[in-house]
Parts: sequence; structure tokens; C-alpha cells
Amino acid sequence: MSTIIIDTYLCNGCATCVAMCPDVFRLDQTTEKAELIQPEPELTDDVYQAAAFCPEKCIEIREE
Ligand code: SF4
Repeated sequence: MSTIIIDTYLCNGCATCVAMCPDVFRLDQTTEKAELIQPEPELTDDVYQAAAFCPEKCIEIREE
């Protein structure tokens, strides 16, 4: 099983992940931090790219 964890404390709301992967990430309307649209999204290359390009390095992908 794979899980994506977003450290919302570190997230700066830049929306890079949303731009790169709009099917997986969105910004919470209240906190303006990134959140997952669905709890267990498919781990496509775009997800790994978004994690790599996150300026705060706060997207963690755990493969178990
Ligand atoms: S790219 Fe990183 S810092 Fe920017 S909104 Fe997404 S999780 Fe937050």
C-alpha cells in the first residue's frame, strides 16, 4: 500500500503540486494548504514529480 503524506505545517500554499497534479492535490479553501482530493490516489509519475518540485519538501510518499 502507498500513502501520500502532506506536512501542512511546512506547506506554504504555493500550489505547485496542484498545478502539476490537479487530480491528486488541491488547496484547502480555509487553510490554503495542500490536501489530497482522495485519500489513496494512484502514484503516477506526476505525483513523484510534484513531491520533487515542492519547494518545502513537505510531500512524503510512503510505499509499504
Ligand atoms: S508544492 Fe508543497 S508547499 Fe506548495 S502547496 Fe504543494 S505541498 Fe504545499
